[in-house]
Amino acid sequence: MNLLQDLVIASRVCADHGVIDAYGHVSVRSADCPDRYWMSRAVAPELITEADLVELDLDSNAIMDKPPALYNERFIHGEIYKLRPDVNAIVHNHSHAVIPFSCSNCRLRPLFHLAAFIGQGVPTWDIREAQRGSDMLVRNAMLGQSLARKLGPHPAALMRGHGSVVVGATLPIALGRTIYLDHNARMQAQTLQLANDPDEVVYLDDEEVQALSWQAYARSWDLWQTQWTPRLAAEAALRASQPVA
Ligand SMILES: [Zn+2]
Repeated sequence: MNLLQDLVIASRVCADHGVIDAYGHVSVRSADCPDRYWMSRAVAPELITEADLVELDLDSNAIMDKPPALYNERFIHGEIYKLRPDVNAIVHNHSHAVIPFSCSNCRLRPLFHLAAFIGQGVPTWDIREAQRGSDMLVRNAMLGQSLARKLGPHPAALMRGHGSVVVGATLPIALGRTIYLDHNARMQAQTLQLANDPDEVVYLDDEEVQALSWQAYARSWDLWQTQWTPRLAAEAALRASQPVA
């Protein structure tokens, strides 16, 4: 497994699914140094290559001299890695389908099997719990810690009026949960429009959620990796063939 290439692929997949656009980011914990993690410098995820990736410590400082501009919200990642030793990959995104559930009393619930993890609990974090009058961005460790504490042991947390953070023991799990959280939100909104009585919508029950706790999105990951590996190789060949300006 090439962790850095996989991080590029995960970023591209999120962009391809419209879960991330110019904003949002994916990270992975370093394989040989668990108190560090990798994420891109501040660039749109759809444009990321391996050359953009930077290693950071858990205080979200880059491990290099003269680092490039980094994402303002990198503290989301560092503070979650500190509190959750079981987490090795994180996606922060602004999915338009998910945000309505962050700022209403309509709770996101597991509607279909690929999003069963929602049944493990997806709390909503309001940045005002930590700071009033913010610009909504997780710009420092204090805000990152507050979000990480709200996430607790759960697979994801919504961020009121902003987006969500999704975690996993592996990159395929964090990525699969991110994509299917977005799908579940779309389908739940559709179902609630179709239903005569919202109380009669049938969600996965706790036993089904438990029975699906093995879900690791291996086949989804295999598909995404197979699709993106040749595309990234073609892009790299094109870049190499172009004269340096
Ligand atoms: Zn954000």
